[in-house]
Amino acid sequence: MSDRVLLTGISGYLGGHTALALLAAGFTVRGSVRNLAKAEAVRKTLEKHGGDVSRLEFVALDLMSDGGWVEAMEGVRYLVHTASPFVLKMPTDKTELIRPAVEGTERALNAAFAAGLERAVLTSSMAAIAYGHDKSRTEPFTAADWTNLEGRGVNAYIESKTLAERRAWDIARSAGREIDLVTINPAGIFGPLLDEDPGTSVAGIQRMLNGSVPAAPRIPLVVVDVRDVAAAHVAALTAPEAGGKRFPMGESTMFLFEAACVLREAFPGHAGKLPRFEMPDWGVRIYALFDGDVRGLLGELGVRKSLDSTPTIGLLGRPLIPARDTIVATGESLIAQGLA
Ligand code: NAP
Repeated sequence: MSDRVLLTGISGYLGGHTALALLAAGFTVRGSVRNLAKAEAVRKTLEKHGGDVSRLEFVALDLMSDGGWVEAMEGVRYLVHTASPFVLKMPTDKTELIRPAVEGTERALNAAFAAGLERAVLTSSMAAIAYGHDKSRTEPFTAADWTNLEGRGVNAYIESKTLAERRAWDIARSAGREIDLVTINPAGIFGPLLDEDPGTSVAGIQRMLNGSVPAAPRIPLVVVDVRDVAAAHVAALTAPEAGGKRFPMGESTMFLFEAACVLREAFPGHAGKLPRFEMPDWGVRIYALFDGDVRGLLGELGVRKSLDSTPTIGLLGRPLIPARDTIVATGESLIAQGLA
């Protein structure tokens, strides 16, 4: 069998970086897009960033449709399933996020195991590990932890990722293939952009650089670099000891204002637009009375949670990129793309 990888969600922020990492490691990449009309733009972007696009091909797949999954697995050795809806503003109907996340995972894994692929790597999230728990917990969350969907502060996205990962393990177990599934559970992914789309996670940094956040609420950013997350997906495909495991990824935690201070120091020309002070929690609670999105963040206010990334550091064989460098790289990239 060839060293071909089916990479779902290649048009996304993480998907693009993962494609570059797979190509650099010598794999042939079959990237899935919802609409093949997007393929050329993705190809150009990857080529611009040094990807050997002679080993890149595209298929059309939608998480919400059965069409094409069987054919997409032909001649493929590994699956990397990154595609899943990721939005900042939660929909009124939570099934808009949950159905594509869960049903897409079902389609991807069922087709992969039926076609005899050797291993599937699923992009899960810290969202499936570290939410709905007691706020007073201080020790880092580990691969043994699961989000408690009955707990407070669980939004539709968190639910979608938790249910999707649980479903993935159920499918692997029923197929007798638990050892051939790996999940990567990143925290907030930041770092260089490949194109002018800031995506969902980087949009928060963009807002700060653009002056839309005059005072920063004490919202924690558990930071991990997109280049590390991509590298972990690639390493997880072949590392024998990775099979059947979850890999949490979060380098360190900073409140929004700390990230703003890093940006202020690195980009003095933007200092005037960055938040000048930290908003007291009571101020945020008052603000939340009038803004549903802010209300959704209250559960996280002032909670400096963290992830134990030790297994992932072992998988990569090196430390994670320091969060400060990741935040600076994010800012540099936003400025270079003319987005800040
Ligand atoms: P993104 O840029 O929005 O990428 C999401 C990808 O999923 C896009 O390629 C998108 O395709 C695809 N997708 C969404 N709905 C789809 C559907 N119905 N059918 C087919 N494809 C669909 O987000 P990202 O930040 O790179 O996230 C990638 C993965 O990482 C997701 O699984 C996300 O949950 C996970 N994650 C992200 C973060 C983070 O901070 N960014 C943290 C932890 C985990 P289109 O281009 O067609 O929309």
